[in-house]
Amino acid sequence: ITSRIQDRTLLRTDAFVDGGWVGSDSGARFPVLDPGTGELLAEVPRLGRAETARAIEAARLALPGWRARTAVDRSGILRRWADLIRSHVDDIATILTAEQGKPFPEACGEVLYSAAFLDWFAEEGRRVYGDVIPSNSAAERIIVLKQSVGVVGGITPWNLPAAMITRKAAPALAAGCALVLKPAEQTPLTALALAELGLRAGVPPGVLNIVTGAAEDAPEIGRELTDNPVVRKLSFTGSTEVGRLLMRQCADGIKKVSLELGGNAAFIVFDDADPELAVEGIFSAKYRNAGQICTAANRILVQDGILERFTEALLRRTRAVRVGTGFTDGVEMGPLIDDQGLRKVQRHVADLVEHGGQVLTGGRPDERGGTFFEPTVITGLSTESLAWREETFGPVAAIRSFATEDEAITLANDSEYGLVAYLYSHNLGRIWRTAEAIETGMIAVNTGRVSGEQAPFGGIKQSGIGREGSKYGLDEWLEIKYLNLAGL
Ligand code: ADP
Repeated sequence: ITSRIQDRTLLRTDAFVDGGWVGSDSGARFPVLDPGTGELLAEVPRLGRAETARAIEAARLALPGWRARTAVDRSGILRRWADLIRSHVDDIATILTAEQGKPFPEACGEVLYSAAFLDWFAEEGRRVYGDVIPSNSAAERIIVLKQSVGVVGGITPWNLPAAMITRKAAPALAAGCALVLKPAEQTPLTALALAELGLRAGVPPGVLNIVTGAAEDAPEIGRELTDNPVVRKLSFTGSTEVGRLLMRQCADGIKKVSLELGGNAAFIVFDDADPELAVEGIFSAKYRNAGQICTAANRILVQDGILERFTEALLRRTRAVRVGTGFTDGVEMGPLIDDQGLRKVQRHVADLVEHGGQVLTGGRPDERGGTFFEPTVITGLSTESLAWREETFGPVAAIRSFATEDEAITLANDSEYGLVAYLYSHNLGRIWRTAEAIETGMIAVNTGRVSGEQAPFGGIKQSGIGREGSKYGLDEWLEIKYLNLAGL
């Protein structure tokens, strides 16, 4: 990997605490592997509770200075950070592809997207407006201030190793918070490279801290973030199972939580849809990142009248998906993140078949070996199957047919998750009725993509609490203070 990187100082292999690069107290490290080749990329410190507490202390000490800076001052630093990311896009994307596996062009897209959050919140941070409310008394005025939450914790997943860092760090820092962030054990190198650029951009020591740890260390680091009274809020992106656990841990200290958890998106194609357009949408919503995104189309629901045409078009596109390691030219889909991910996809496919599903293409680990899996189309998705209830997180397009609009809505809502749903139709009334009836935080109409720094990303039901990105995303890092000004 070092031979592919221009600026080798971006390949940081120590944790980042109080503006410096640190190891763990015991000196222990864990390996970071390339999921495409199995190659060892680096060994990164295994931090635990004591080191996390130290990072929190650094954040506590850095907070007053950071919070006291002007919004325009913080904005300038975030903007410089974004510029630095853009000018090192190839290097950061190289690190990202190496540790995560997604195709290099897709990684470049993610890195630019991660810079976009910094730009956006550099601006939004300058627009933290309060209110003046008319009082019931002539001699009083009510003032509403918005202030930074304080010291905050973040925990992020491996599927978007760059964007998930800045989606939390940008609003946190713009709001005047100091952040202690734990990246996923599979992808710490991207987070550390971003921290290096943050340092160069002028983020003061202690304002951003990256605590690294192996899978076994995550519960300890999480414990410190949820139990330490200095931390006022935890923002987590990951599985619903871990989110539930962390929310429970936050209950004792009544800490604020923001949670971006699992999804189980319905992708609904109505009779009047353009099947080719819908198939392009599936490519983005299903095979991008090898299906390892929380917005992935997990349950493809197709109306009877278009089922055959849609399935044929999907089969053609799926068979054409070019699978390979992330640095190979023209590759559209990389490996799954690890063996555990591969086993889950295999389990889901076997279970779909047991429940009457028919594999039209794919269905097996790819001949490349490792954690590569074939792009797969399965029809006859049963509501009794595992894939109906939980996200597959792999390149498996599972299709079920439906007859009426009401049936589609009932099926889509038959989930404890509520992140996103995709609708394909050109009938405005139908789109509107369905969009209102479906219980999710986001609806994509005639497109396979949601998310963007300017839009409120987030779910309802067991998909999460709060929103990231957009003007709403800043509120998550701000407290409201009401001042009653009397005796005027
Ligand atoms: P995924 O299934 O996508 O790996 P996880 O929820 O397991 O999702 O992981 C998301 C993040 O949560 C990672 O950074 C991981 O290390 C962290 N994590 C996992 N278990 C815990 C835990 N018990 N406490 C705190 N963090 C955890």
